[in-house]
Amino acid sequence: MVSLERLSIIKSHLLGNFSFGYDPSLDEYRKKGKSFNLETLRYYYYEIGFPHYQEFNAALRSCPSITERGFSIETKDDKRNLLMQQLEEFTKKVNITREHYLENPIHNFILAKSGLNFDMSFFVKAGVHLALYLDSILNLGTEKHHHLVDRGCKFKDIGCFGLTELGRGSNVSLCGTTAHYIHKTREFIINTPDSLSAKWWIGGAAQTSNKSVIFAQLFIGKTNYGLHGFVVDLRDKVTCKPLPGVIVGDCGGKAENDAIDNGFIIFKNYKVPYDALLDKVSQINNEGKFVSLINKKEKRFGKMMSCLLLGRSACLMSSEANLKNALTIAIRWAAIRKQFGPNPEREVPILDYLLTRTRLIPHLANLFAITAACEIAFTRYKDMKKIMEIDFERIEVTEYHAILSSVKVLTTESAFEGIHQCRKICGGLGYSKFVKLGEYLTKHDINLTWEGDNNILLQQTAGFIIKQSLKALKGDTIQAASLKCLNLNFELSRSDRPSKDLLSINSLISILEHIFNLLLHKALLTLQQNSAKFEAYFDVWNTSQPTLQKLGRIYGVVEIAKHWRRRFELLKQKDLEAFYLVEKLYCLYIIEKILGYQGELLCEGYFSGTEVKKMEEEHERLCNELGESAVRIIDAVANEDFMHASCLGYSDGQAYKRLTDTVEAQADCYKESSSLNVIKRLITP
Ligand SMILES: Cc1cc2nc3c(=O)[nH]c(=O)nc-3n(C[C@H](O)[C@H](O)[C@H](O)COP(=O)(O)OP(=O)(O)OC[C@H]3O[C@@H](n4cnc5c(N)ncnc54)[C@H](O)[C@@H]3O)c2cc1C
Repeated sequence: MVSLERLSIIKSHLLGNFSFGYDPSLDEYRKKGKSFNLETLRYYYYEIGFPHYQEFNAALRSCPSITERGFSIETKDDKRNLLMQQLEEFTKKVNITREHYLENPIHNFILAKSGLNFDMSFFVKAGVHLALYLDSILNLGTEKHHHLVDRGCKFKDIGCFGLTELGRGSNVSLCGTTAHYIHKTREFIINTPDSLSAKWWIGGAAQTSNKSVIFAQLFIGKTNYGLHGFVVDLRDKVTCKPLPGVIVGDCGGKAENDAIDNGFIIFKNYKVPYDALLDKVSQINNEGKFVSLINKKEKRFGKMMSCLLLGRSACLMSSEANLKNALTIAIRWAAIRKQFGPNPEREVPILDYLLTRTRLIPHLANLFAITAACEIAFTRYKDMKKIMEIDFERIEVTEYHAILSSVKVLTTESAFEGIHQCRKICGGLGYSKFVKLGEYLTKHDINLTWEGDNNILLQQTAGFIIKQSLKALKGDTIQAASLKCLNLNFELSRSDRPSKDLLSINSLISILEHIFNLLLHKALLTLQQNSAKFEAYFDVWNTSQPTLQKLGRIYGVVEIAKHWRRRFELLKQKDLEAFYLVEKLYCLYIIEKILGYQGELLCEGYFSGTEVKKMEEEHERLCNELGESAVRIIDAVANEDFMHASCLGYSDGQAYKRLTDTVEAQADCYKESSSLNVIKRLITP
């Protein structure tokens, strides 16, 4: 390269070739819409656990590896190194204790939420250790295991969670890994009997974790007592090399989240002491006999899986964080980006278009709904843990499981759709790596599958509702609070429609409850019809699944609607304008859901065509009105800029400048092709 050319490249790197000063401001949009107090809305949004947010956000803000991350990290190794550096810096600044798990779980929930607000990979790496490994020990272990929790809280051990195998994911009760008890030495020998029984996808296993909770079939002699949890060493603490009898490897590249070292684990005659067994439920006595608090193998399995509750809640929080960051980017960008207008001299921001508002604002309403779902998980968790200690089959626990399963599906799916819409709202620039929407979308995707595949979870929720309904049909009193709206007189429920104002909040909720009863009726009918066709229950259930899935979904919608309403009613006393705003978001959420069932409602004559039209008009009106205030709503709830770090999403509105600066700062921005010879051969002068 001639020296003049080199000089010109250095100059453009230093000064930039885009210094034309073209940035419009977000302030124009901030003047629009009705006034409300941003701080009140912010406090409402983050109220549960507010001091913990302040603590963790301050910790994140003080870590240079977090605030100064750039876009040039490309290789898997570099991503992993950066993540470990971030975790090391961050964990030194936060205090996590066993008491937080037992007495103040909200601390850990907000810790997770703050981490997820910054980066999903960052918190998944920590979360596998904190929410899956440590919580399993606390749930399934006894006092003798508590020192492991204390070590884990200080990151003196790093643990992973080994449940899934290459051949078994959703149906983990059939896991192949075995743990044979040897009475003479009071040890277990753990084995991977075949290739499909290799633990697979285990986050942290490939390179990091020295410990793991693993699940294996407990054998005494030839008798299999079912799946049990064991806490085992994977690596030597000094050399960090796998121990003899343990083989670990990397599962290979993934669609995203490569910073996490997901690995496989194979055990070969690996001996572990008796105390490796997490023995709260089952023990082996001094005579070598199996004793258990729970007699039935299937029920013991249910208890083993209770350690997934925290992980499942983390998917809700991840949905909130990912969608919030995506909306922050898309709403700010839509307020800046101008296209077309009444005349060539006056192009208007794309957020001014009704179409953009109807595409974007329902997702803003979904964000608030997801926040309500997170709160359901937070606020009930501590009580549930206490009840579970006494009886994990109590109605409150099975109900919590059913609700959590349904809302996990609703939140992860709506966040995915919302993030994708945000990418499309940002047009071509939304595809840029520096805008980060592609990253959010791909990272978020796996939330729909892990911690319980969404389609499996909906079946579990539907199973709970059907079981309770059948009991009620036999005359039992309905105990689950969430099923109090159940109306088993289906004929009567058809005529039970809100008479006056269809769009009032009370009417909207009763329409939702009606849809729930309608879908329950359909599900019971389908099961009945299929029972006449098939003998085996498996076939009856299998052929009824599409109808049951709908039931599982609407149950979560009703729960979210009820919780969210209780919460925002409290806002009335604090700030009326903020209250009206959240009320509008709330109505929009419910109307959108109701419109999704318009086919069913029209078919059974519950709605007329005119009423559907009225709902559609209200939907449009709310989108339009909320669109005016969208920038300020997002200002109230958005994370600090360094957390989303998207060129298009900063609160100062300097999107174009930040994007071109970032593009020009890339080492290869002005680099000539390394295939120059080929190009020259192809281009014939
Ligand atoms: C990046 C990543 C990280 C992970 N980390 C961990 C970890 O740390 N520890 C761990 O133990 N596991 C981990 N997992 C595993 C994860 O929990 C499983 O992938 C998940 O439980 C789903 O199981 P599967 O992949 O075997 O899917 P499958 O169970 O094979 O499901 C495949 C499809 O079949 C459908 N299906 C299955 N059964 C039925 C049915 N009865 N009726 C109708 N449809 C059905 C499902 O809905 C799904 O669409 C991780 C996975 C990934 C991708």
